[in-house]
Amino acid sequence: MSENLNPCVSCGACCAYFRVSFYWAESEDGGGMVPSSLTEPVTPFLSCMQGTNCKTPRCIALEGEIGQSVSCSIYLNRPSPCREFDMSGEHGIHSETCDRARAHYGLPALPVNFAIDKSVSDIMTVGCNRAPEQGTIAT
Ligand code: SF4
Repeated sequence: MSENLNPCVSCGACCAYFRVSFYWAESEDGGGMVPSSLTEPVTPFLSCMQGTNCKTPRCIALEGEIGQSVSCSIYLNRPSPCREFDMSGEHGIHSETCDRARAHYGLPALPVNFAIDKSVSDIMTVGCNRAPEQGTIAT
């Protein structure tokens, strides 16, 4: 096999390391798509995914075992930080935030140049590979 499965399907570190916060109107209550029942308020203008605003974060929507096999239960309706987060190596660019989350779980940084089986990566998984940034995976 010359191509690899998307590494996000066996990672999930970014969904259990950062606070995943976003403008509150991304949730259903504000007319958006993120299930409101899975969010909580951070400020009058910010919401976050439940489970991510604490010392040992893990998004309530993350299913599976980190570093083994994971998926996002609301993948099609996940918030913008998850959609915008680039895993390390995507577009040939290193992601310090991806590396940091992976390192927290004892996972090595992803190589910058690797090929992904697009038939798999388009089906998808977790937030990585199109989601967050900074100390929060978020806004
Ligand atoms: S991709 Fe899904 S599981 Fe990961 S942080 Fe976002 S909503 Fe949570």
